[in-house]
Amino acid sequence: MNLSVLYRGPLTSCNYSCEYCPFAKRTETKAQLRRDQQSLVRFTRWIESQRQHAWKVLLTPWGEALVRAWYRDAIVALTQVRQLESVAVQTNLSCGLDWIEDCRRNRLALWATFHPTEADAGVFRRKVRRLHNLGVRVCVGMVGVPEFLEAIMTMRRELPPEIYLWINAQQPRARPYTPDELKQFRAIDPHFELTLKRQPSRGLPCRTGKSVFCVDGRGDMRRCHFVHRVIGNIYDPTWEHCLHPRSCPNRFCDCFLGKAQLTADSLHEVFGENLLERLPLGFSTPRPSR
Ligand code: SF4
Ligand code: SF4
Repeated sequence: MNLSVLYRGPLTSCNYSCEYCPFAKRTETKAQLRRDQQSLVRFTRWIESQRQHAWKVLLTPWGEALVRAWYRDAIVALTQVRQLESVAVQTNLSCGLDWIEDCRRNRLALWATFHPTEADAGVFRRKVRRLHNLGVRVCVGMVGVPEFLEAIMTMRRELPPEIYLWINAQQPRARPYTPDELKQFRAIDPHFELTLKRQPSRGLPCRTGKSVFCVDGRGDMRRCHFVHRVIGNIYDPTWEHCLHPRSCPNRFCDCFLGKAQLTADSLHEVFGENLLERLPLGFSTPRPSR
């Protein structure tokens, strides 16, 4: 079976301090960080052992993962796993990039988010170009803060056109977007609408819990990040038994990751097989040497 798993371990710290983010300035004890590392190593070994399925993995940490060596090591290891088609990670791209050379780069994808108050745009773009030249699939993201509009337009102008720049609507925001702001965001990201409106979802069939599921540091499985009921545990030998078609119990589905699974069939024409990597068709990456 083709399965996609979204892994989110206990890590909640980030080296940035974005005003719109609840994870800024959190710190962890050494013991908490050790637990995060052990959880990730266990998860990586589990994926290595699951040869009966074809896998896609997306790491969706609460904080920033790639400044931690164990996430970089896990990604290098995961890209070598035969039954794994793709490993993607959400990151602010503040880490060094030399470790990327050790990955099987045609299996790696990055959601690289640029935060104008925290990072230098030129340095960020140089890293994106390096990844692109190495053959890593990379999309760039920014939060649709009205005050960032100029920075978002500059980012779009300065990035190679084949690199997709997505904009996540700011949630919550102090005021509604003006028609002019909406027009400009839509002109930069043709799929901006996907994150703008709440999507009514109760009772609708959704792929989560069947071919897509989330895993936490203990191995507990949930359908998605928004339905909190535990449906199984990957370290239980019968874990596959909990996967079956389901409809959504929530009134609304709110973020790209959820809506993408809810409306996967209609988005197939836009994203093809690269929904989890958030790469619309037509945004290409040169073939890597390995
Ligand atoms: S980089 Fe991401 S996780 Fe870190 S503070 Fe900013 S929004 Fe939050
Ligand atoms: S529709 Fe959204 S909230 Fe509902 S189960 Fe699917 S991903 Fe989760």
